[in-house]
This record gives sequence, C-alpha cells and structure tokens, in this order.
Amino acid sequence: MPEMIVKPATLKELWKILPALPPARRYLAGGTDIVVACNGGCESSECWMDISDIPELKTIKETASSLFLGAAVKISDLERSAAVRKWCPALIAAIPYYASPSLRNMATLGGNAGNGSPCADGVCALVAEGASVLLELKGKKRRLPLKDLFLGPKKTALKKDELILGFEVPKRARLGAYQKLSARPYFCISKAAVAVTLEISGGVIKRAGIALGSVAPVPLYAAKTAAWLAGKKLSAVTAAAAAGIVKAEAAPITDARSEADYRREMCGVLLERALVSLVPLAGR
Ligand SMILES: Cc1cc2nc3c(=O)[nH]c(=O)nc-3n(C[C@H](O)[C@H](O)[C@H](O)COP(=O)(O)OP(=O)(O)OC[C@H]3O[C@@H](n4cnc5c(N)ncnc54)[C@H](O)[C@@H]3O)c2cc1C
Repeated sequence: MPEMIVKPATLKELWKILPALPPARRYLAGGTDIVVACNGGCESSECWMDISDIPELKTIKETASSLFLGAAVKISDLERSAAVRKWCPALIAAIPYYASPSLRNMATLGGNAGNGSPCADGVCALVAEGASVLLELKGKKRRLPLKDLFLGPKKTALKKDELILGFEVPKRARLGAYQKLSARPYFCISKAAVAVTLEISGGVIKRAGIALGSVAPVPLYAAKTAAWLAGKKLSAVTAAAAAGIVKAEAAPITDARSEADYRREMCGVLLERALVSLVPLAGR
C-alpha cells in the first residue's frame, strides 16, 4: 500500500494540495482495480489521492441536450438512476455483466476508463452511446470523444494528474443492447463484448453506435459497421450482414482467455444477437 493517502473534499482543494504531494501518485476512486494491482505488485505509487467523495464527481446531471455522469458515481447508483435508464440503454444493458453487485457498490466509470483496459464493460457501453469524456488538470478543462481516450492496453491520453470529471452522453432517443462472452455468464472478464445503440425511425436505422470490448488493444469503436447500418431496415437479414462486416474491424489477440480467431468470429455472433434482440422493440 502507498505511504500516504490524501482525501481532498473538493476539486479546489485537490489542485491546491497537489504540488506538495509525492511525485509518484495516482487517483483512488472505488479501488477495485488499483488495490488489486497493488496487491499483485503492479502498483507502487507513494501516494493515492482519494477522489471518491468529491461532490463535483458524484453528480448525475441533465441539460437540454446531454446527460453528465460524474466519474465517481458508483455503478449501482447509475443503475438506479431514472435518467441513466432513459438515456443510456447500452450502459444499462451492460451493468448486469459488470463484476458483481457488491463490486458495483464500489466501482466507478472513472476508474473503468482510468484503468485503460480493453475489457472495460462500462467504457465499451459508453463508447457505443457516443459519450465524450470531460477532463480537468489544475482548473484547466478539456473534452475528448471517449473512444479517443485509449491508446493501448493500460495506456490512455490522460496527462500526469489529469482527472476524469465525468462523461457526457447525448440525449437522443435510442435502443441499446450489450452482449458479453466470457467463461462464466456473469462475474467474469470478457473474451469478447459488443455494445450497440440504434436510433430508429419507421423501422429504419437513422444512426448506429457500435463498440467492441476485448478484441483490440483498446475499447474499439466499430465505425465502418456503424456507418453501414445507417439507412438500413432493422431486421434479422441486416443483423446477419452486419455480423460479417464487424468481424473485419476487430483486431483480437490470443491470450489466456481466448484465441484470436474465435474472438473475431464471436464479435459477429454477438453483434447479430444484439441487433436481433432489438428488432421487436424497433416499431414501438
Ligand atoms: C473481482 C473483480 C471483477 C471485476 N469485473 C469486472 C467486469 O466484469 N467488468 C469490468 O469492466 N471491470 C471489472 N472489474 C474491474 C473494476 O471493477 C472496474 O474497472 C471498475 O470500474 C474500476 O473502478 P474503481 O472506481 O474501482 O477504480 P480504481 O481502482 O479506484 O481506479 C482504477 C484506475 O483508474 C484511475 N482513476 C480512477 N478514477 C479516476 C479519475 N476520475 N480520473 C483519472 N483516473 C482515475 C486510478 O488512478 C487507477 O489507475 C473487476 C474487478 C474485480 C476486482
């Protein structure tokens, strides 16, 4: 464990105390990744900055056009939020597959993104939702499309000490689905995962968002497949054709959890299942 854990009460206090802290420092939110890494000998910072009670990071806020999800909101609180249920259908579909109920009481989306894993279920869903990530460093804010935050396994575009404030999801009526393949149906890291959002009018897809987990070095936005779906009627035939296209977008590796060819094949299967699950909802 680090020698020092500090717990600023506000963002203002965080930026004020930061220069006096030991240089090897990291943020601590729910601790479900960083504590495991520490116990495994992969994390040896001198100082953790506990951001779990900073009010600005714990809000879910609606504006006319978007929904803000604070980086330190617990996954279980997101699941209970009526606004998240309304505007984030892929995220809501992903939550049952996200760790376990007890871990969801601790884990946050900020930690899911900050950890930089290609397997992150919350990130994968938010990328399909078309989310942006809001960042702050010593009072200076910037915004990125969430899909651009990830540079490789455990590598993000975050600068030293840059804090994820939260995620902004556009408020557009859409359907969403999440399909995850893992060794067990629940409480397991994915071999492959697919998140889908669809904006539909008169049975025709107006806009699609597709993200793939565990099949590339980063949570991957499947841009070609999403563009191909726009303008198509949502049907089992469209779903089968999209499955063929998405396989070419995945860039999986073979590792302890699965083989590359199987992962690629299953991307297509999972996308087809996700799209077919939305067919009965398209006319409502
Ligand atoms: C048994 C087990 C099962 C799991 N199952 C799943 C699963 O099914 N799906 C899944 O996606 N994940 C799973 N995880 C991983 C983990 O629970 C999630 O990634 C979780 O969302 C991490 O959030 P946290 O708040 O606990 O992050 P922490 O552990 O507190 O932080 C993780 C990393 O992000 C950084 N960080 C945290 N918050 C911020 C911020 N606001 N700004 C910048 N950097 C920040 C930290 O410095 C650290 O590097 C599992 C973990 C365990 C132990």
